[in-house]
Amino acid sequence: MRDAGITGKPGKVLVEKIGVETVGDLLRYYPRKYSERGQLTDLSALVVGEKATVWAKVVKVHDRSLQPGSGRGGRRGGLKLVTTVTIGDGRKQLTCAFFNQFHIAKVLRPGTEAMFSGTVKDFRGELQLSSPQWAVVSTPDTLDSIADPAEAKTAIEVVEQFAGGIIPIYALVEGLTQSVIQNSVRVVLDLLGPIQDPVPDELLATRGLVGLGAALRHIHRPGSRAELDHARARLKYDEALAIQLVLARRREEARSFPAEPCPRIDDGLLAAFDSALPFELTQGQHEVGEQIATDLATIHPMNRLLQGEVGSGKTVVALRAMLQVIDSGRQAVMLAPTEVLAAQHARSLRSVLGPLGAGGELGSDSRATRITLLTGSMATGARRSALLDIASGQAGITVGTHALLSDGVFFAELGLVVIDEQHRFGVEQRDALRSKGPEGSPPHVLVMTATPIPRTVAMTVYGDLETSTLSELPRGRSPISTTVVPAAERPAWLERAWLRIREEVAAGHQAYVVCPKIGDDEPGRSRARSADDEELGEPDDWDSEPEETTARRPPLSVDQVATLLESGPLQGLRLARLHGRLPPAEKDEVMQSFAAGDIDVLVSTTVIEVGVDVPNATMMVVMDAERFGLSQLHQLRGRVGRGSAPGVCLLVTEAPEASPSRVRLDAVAQISDGFALADRDLELRQEGNVLGTSQAGRTSSLKLLSLRTDREVVEDARDDAQALVAGDPGFSKFPRLLAMAQDVIDEQGQAYLDKA
Ligand code: ADP
Ligand code: MG
Repeated sequence: MRDAGITGKPGKVLVEKIGVETVGDLLRYYPRKYSERGQLTDLSALVVGEKATVWAKVVKVHDRSLQPGSGRGGRRGGLKLVTTVTIGDGRKQLTCAFFNQFHIAKVLRPGTEAMFSGTVKDFRGELQLSSPQWAVVSTPDTLDSIADPAEAKTAIEVVEQFAGGIIPIYALVEGLTQSVIQNSVRVVLDLLGPIQDPVPDELLATRGLVGLGAALRHIHRPGSRAELDHARARLKYDEALAIQLVLARRREEARSFPAEPCPRIDDGLLAAFDSALPFELTQGQHEVGEQIATDLATIHPMNRLLQGEVGSGKTVVALRAMLQVIDSGRQAVMLAPTEVLAAQHARSLRSVLGPLGAGGELGSDSRATRITLLTGSMATGARRSALLDIASGQAGITVGTHALLSDGVFFAELGLVVIDEQHRFGVEQRDALRSKGPEGSPPHVLVMTATPIPRTVAMTVYGDLETSTLSELPRGRSPISTTVVPAAERPAWLERAWLRIREEVAAGHQAYVVCPKIGDDEPGRSRARSADDEELGEPDDWDSEPEETTARRPPLSVDQVATLLESGPLQGLRLARLHGRLPPAEKDEVMQSFAAGDIDVLVSTTVIEVGVDVPNATMMVVMDAERFGLSQLHQLRGRVGRGSAPGVCLLVTEAPEASPSRVRLDAVAQISDGFALADRDLELRQEGNVLGTSQAGRTSSLKLLSLRTDREVVEDARDDAQALVAGDPGFSKFPRLLAMAQDVIDEQGQAYLDKA
């Protein structure tokens, strides 16, 4: 079906205008919307001031050219042509006015049936639609033989081509009319034989779905609302199934590799670590730990995503996995998105491991391993010795940044890859590290993220990973209260915010002030996530874009804000600046002094966004908060309230009340649960931004399926894809399923999934 080309003149137009080349393409070019006969057309019922959509027939068209320089034309600037189109429903008439639309008279010829949509106005006592949107239903050519007196009857007949009176309206581009598409579709549907359904019958029966043939017929020519609904449900399911099949196959493929099993042992590092653990694992940490331990002990590589709210204690879970692998004589590597975070991880791993992490040092425990740090900014000597540790296998745990991915890094025997804050990385980085495992035996992979992802998106974007979730926070963690500070409307609140910082500091605590940009010399950036740290990965695709891009003052910078605070509201406190442009050694020093309590207030960019763990910090003020994405703000506030004292986060903004920006910030203030916030975020944004690019003019590969509202469909499809692939990995029983996957999600969508 998909191979048959469309020929002839309409075929050429379709190919050129909308990229529809085959019969299959055309059938998948679904109507954008539908108009129902019953709700159209009664011109006598129109009310001035209301929006109306009318289906009617063009009675008369009149072009009036205006002389350049004439009084009217001069006053109206470039107005050269007014076209008046009179339309009628057989009883009553109405005029539509178009300005400078030179093609109108050619297209809307008398006899043409069309849909007009616009606001009804009173023009010199007559009803008029001014510059309405319009779509041609049929042209007079198709009605050639019908005589004039039968006009009203004809009109009805045209609509009755669409049996249920539900008329499909297709998305149009310049040079393509509704009738070209409608007629092409009609021809194709009339000639089309029975369509072989790629989806197995039993599955359709289980899910209560109609066959593909019926679905395609009815999406284009529904006989009733019910038919249309069934058609949509089926085709939606196809989209979800296509994506999930691709992902299920990828999971299956990854699982088919052999891996070195790393079972738990009784007297190894892990056991020693567990017995010295200063706190009790949360139930979640325990359960996920068991899952991972089982995965690691199997003969196929683990590919697991560990999602956990900020502060839920993912690091310990990862560390325990690393120790289990080391107990089998293998190495583990942990990739972090920033130098600050990599250094912090190395430091904290050393400190929690104590003597067990002091391998190679004099008098250390015989089971002890060594923790090696590798970042891009290391001096040559240090780098060389780190590389040697890694290549010789001395480094049980290597922590590092993107520098780990470079060609010169060789592991003696890599058994486990841990990726922290996955939202900063892509699949490429995951694969680059994976490829550093022994030939033919890829390492186990554990991916961690605190960016709460709505379930449907997780199932789609991270669909090739098994998922575990840590939802509970360790005991003794205090709640964070978040408040929006409207600086423009209530300047006093901002004053109060600075006073509050002084109070926190007086009580022995510390604070962050976060700004969207580093200094004044930076070129303006539209996103808060500046290229702040040279090691940042791609911004997470689904993070919100700030919407309002109209001229505003430039974003506040670290330099500007720090200078202001030092000499003003926070005079006398110990302030420091932190951002990605500081030399790495200095960055590390600032972080360490802050962690040691030698700095009261850290004025910083989003370098602190991920992972930074200073439990004594209890307050955060985010300047120009509307410039950050929702998930980013959630990450940021996760930096406070990590100790036993309650955390406070203030979101300072000049965005006016009820603006989209303020609505987003209010959501952050009201919703403390990251997953609920992610779902809300999804509701607040445009569908197109969820999967693939959000650039104007490029469509998401999903035509009917909504990741926002079709959660059940995605879940069903995921289960079904899993079962289909498990039972028949080569698709020998249902060979057309894969072809369908390609039909349904276009190349762009597939490429996106490949990279996700
Ligand atoms: P995240 O999941 O955000 O990466 P971390 O792993 O950084 O969280 O853990 C946050 C803090 O909680 C760390 O200081 C860690 O030592 C501590 N922590 C982790 N697990 C527990 C636990 N079960 N009980 C008490 N504290 C814990
Ligand atoms: Mg972390």
